[in-house]
Amino acid sequence: MPPTIFVIFGGTGDLNARKLVPALYHLFLDGWLPEQFALIGTGRTELTDEEFQKRMLDGINAFSRTGKADKDQWAKFSPHIVYQLADVKNAGAYQKFGTRIAAYEKAWKAPANVIYYLAVAPEFFPIIAANLAESKLADDSDRTRIVVEKPFGHDLDSSRELNRLLGQIFDERQIYRIDHYLGKETVQNIMAFRFANALLEPLWNRNYIEHVQISVTEQLGVGDRSGYYDGAGAMRDMIQNHLLQLLCLVAMEPPVNFTADEVRNRKVDVLRAMRRFAPEDVRESAVRGQYGPGWMEGQQVPGYRQETDADPKSNTETFAAVKFFVDNWRWQGVPFYVRTGKRMHRSASIITIQFKDTPHNIFPPETAESWQQNRLIISIQPEMSIRLQVQAKRPGLDMMLNTVDMVFDYKGTYTSEAPEAYETLLLDTMLGDQTLFMRGDQVEAAWDLIMPILQSWQGRASQSFPNYSADSWGPELAEALIARDGFHWFTLPLTTNK
Ligand code: NAP
Repeated sequence: MPPTIFVIFGGTGDLNARKLVPALYHLFLDGWLPEQFALIGTGRTELTDEEFQKRMLDGINAFSRTGKADKDQWAKFSPHIVYQLADVKNAGAYQKFGTRIAAYEKAWKAPANVIYYLAVAPEFFPIIAANLAESKLADDSDRTRIVVEKPFGHDLDSSRELNRLLGQIFDERQIYRIDHYLGKETVQNIMAFRFANALLEPLWNRNYIEHVQISVTEQLGVGDRSGYYDGAGAMRDMIQNHLLQLLCLVAMEPPVNFTADEVRNRKVDVLRAMRRFAPEDVRESAVRGQYGPGWMEGQQVPGYRQETDADPKSNTETFAAVKFFVDNWRWQGVPFYVRTGKRMHRSASIITIQFKDTPHNIFPPETAESWQQNRLIISIQPEMSIRLQVQAKRPGLDMMLNTVDMVFDYKGTYTSEAPEAYETLLLDTMLGDQTLFMRGDQVEAAWDLIMPILQSWQGRASQSFPNYSADSWGPELAEALIARDGFHWFTLPLTTNK
């Protein structure tokens, strides 16, 4: 690993303290960071290096997956962290970064890779990129990279514009658009599971798969994030990025090899093959919801419109469910149902592949206690598992059939703790591996797909909001969306949640 400098814009923000620094600390503990490593945090808050380090230590102590920082290890890690006061809108401030970087390179007697991490509100992405270019901090395309947090654009036009602006300054190989879902261990395993096992491929198509469900639900409400969330909603915040990326991993063709562009080409093929919605299709294929007040685990919780700083007449959806089709040879006619929502009964991210029924049942109906088609369930969180549900004979003298689970459970199989998504992604940024990052055309293809739904929803305010209560599974219309086709949303039994 060459000498590396992270310049983190938004160094004083929530994301840096909660995710980025704890991830870098773990990379340090596991020996992944080079000796010549520096983290320059930046923001408008006046802080000394020591005060900034103390904040970062507090972040690790509060949010690290391994608990409080080890005193000796922190003493070795903390000198790598410094703070630079700067307002990102002030072009003059960028020289200070140049001076710092030059000082490190002089001390190290070697050029460094510099990674500019944009952990700030999206309105600052263009101005930071422009100021980096203006200050000649991004001239060396082999040594500089830029990491852009979500949201990447607000709609198709703004994502195109952001791609255009970044493209004027950086090569595509320098731009790392983060979708942290792609760094999750279980999500990475979808590709391993599909493409490292020969037995799945013959079944992985319209001949054997009846439908696919992708469900990402959260118990949390919006809380005090209405300011951001009200301009976004579930469709922009979750479906445009995380859920469509999960869908791509399920539906993609095998890439020729595991290189960044091969993998991303196959994913973008899926997005391009997805059926576009005509305005009149939106009502049939997409459902929106907004949570009302209710009770969660014995606590009274406000509705979305009553959250701090929320618009009491907000038309923003906190739930979305969509039925997609992928129009290609492999998937023609197979519905992909996706749903996501806040204040739902349980937090769980699950992909369910439901296979077609047996062509002919040789057993009399009374032998089946609970007949069910085969299902493959990939549970991303909180349980990390892959389970295949099959029918089997119950032990006994009579022939009785039950559904049983064949389970690969991470916790039961591996003793080591899975790294956090940000550890994987930050390491890949340092290694220059873009496989798990979004390419510009992927982001645009995903926006292009959902624009008719967004336009339709913006164009007509919902008359029924709020239409689901806290601690439910969302609006009844979402049940109807899937029930019309004879299916229902699948959830794992609570007992299996760890
Ligand atoms: P945040 O806590 O509100 O932090 C915002 C940061 O921006 C602060 O460090 C603030 O520093 C800095 N900032 C604001 N105006 C500035 C200016 N003019 N010049 C210099 N710095 C300025 O936000 P966040 O939650 O960390 O989120 C940051 C980005 O990450 C957003 O794009 C968000 O969508 C994305 N993201 C966050 C999370 C998360 O878990 N938090 C998850 C996914 C994506 P000062 O106050 O010191 O100026």
